Amino acid sequence: MISFHPNFADLQRFSAGNCDTAMALMISAHVDMCPQCQQDCLEIQAELAKELFSPQTAIEPLDSQYLDMVTKITELPIADNVESIANNTSIELDGKFFELPRALRKYAKNTGNWSRLVGKLWQAPVDLGDIGKANFIYMEKGGRVPEHTHKGTEMTLVIDGQYGDGIAEYDCGDFTLMSSRHKHLPHSEADDGCLVFTIVDQPLHFTAGIARLLNPFSHLFFK
Ligand SMILES: [Zn+2]
Repeated sequence: MISFHPNFADLQRFSAGNCDTAMALMISAHVDMCPQCQQDCLEIQAELAKELFSPQTAIEPLDSQYLDMVTKITELPIADNVESIANNTSIELDGKFFELPRALRKYAKNTGNWSRLVGKLWQAPVDLGDIGKANFIYMEKGGRVPEHTHKGTEMTLVIDGQYGDGIAEYDCGDFTLMSSRHKHLPHSEADDGCLVFTIVDQPLHFTAGIARLLNPFSHLFFK
């Protein structure tokens, strides 16, 4: 069950086309998975439309980002033919296929090879073009990311499975935004592990044990 959503102010900015592109992609992918936020976005957009078309309000031109967002929300699901499942709508690790939320499907082909990291972790970089870079991180059962904090922000969306980080437990569809105020230790005890999609704007900063030795290199694998 989804328990962690973007905050309402971010949903409003997203609906008005006013949040940055990385955040817009994350929220868009979360909204694909979350009926509650779909409903919230529809209500926010209805309010925005009322304002836009009210005779008392000067009509401002719709910017292209807003139109793009409306297009994304209203576009129909891609036909589920076999080829699209294999090539566009899912990613594969070790023979396992993970279906992606609609907003991320166009990046499936921009996903690099998986590399195996320490601690039963797998990472595949994703080239988001103008938006920057993201990563899919897969934690096998018992896998853990060493305890770390962030110099910037870390946005994470659970695509499949469950994980915890010492702060909370997260399920499929959960969205989190971590900043330098948060120190956490993501780990998965789910039988099928956990796949997350994550965007960080600065390298992670490992805070404990031998993982601190990784700090000079952390930009190589978590950014
Ligand atoms: Zn939600």
